[in-house]
Amino acid sequence: MEKSVLISACLVGESCRYDGQGKLSNDLLELLQGTKLFAVCPEVEGGLPIPRPPAEIKGEKVIRANAEDVTPQFKAGAKAGLELALKEQVSMAILKSRSPACGCGQIYDGSFSGVLIKGDGILTRELKAMGIECISDEEFLNSSR
Ligand code: SF4
Repeated sequence: MEKSVLISACLVGESCRYDGQGKLSNDLLELLQGTKLFAVCPEVEGGLPIPRPPAEIKGEKVIRANAEDVTPQFKAGAKAGLELALKEQVSMAILKSRSPACGCGQIYDGSFSGVLIKGDGILTRELKAMGIECISDEEFLNSSR
């Protein structure tokens, strides 16, 4: 059976990041040739616009620098991403490093000062809770070298 993978949409070149840019990784796509990819941007799925102010996880909430709470949108987007992963029975997820939605293993600490802490984004938490293997794009590339 063809391998299928959930992937952060910005990594396949969709211009869905908070700054209106994508994060296309040709190295990643080359390694994933022959793999069926299901791209999702949980922040956009949750109803957030492009571009949008950046957000970080602080405690149990996802906030913007002005303290605006965008947790509901992040939760809705994570639910949509999880539903896609389950529907397509993906074998794993490759997720954009450090994002408050897609981060895997490391996220910013909610102070908007560039400080990293251990943790996962909101979608990654949902995927892991369902037993889906998650890896960041950086880890995936490093482990394939
Ligand atoms: S939410 Fe995920 S897919 Fe969307 S821009 Fe951020 S890192 Fe990329």
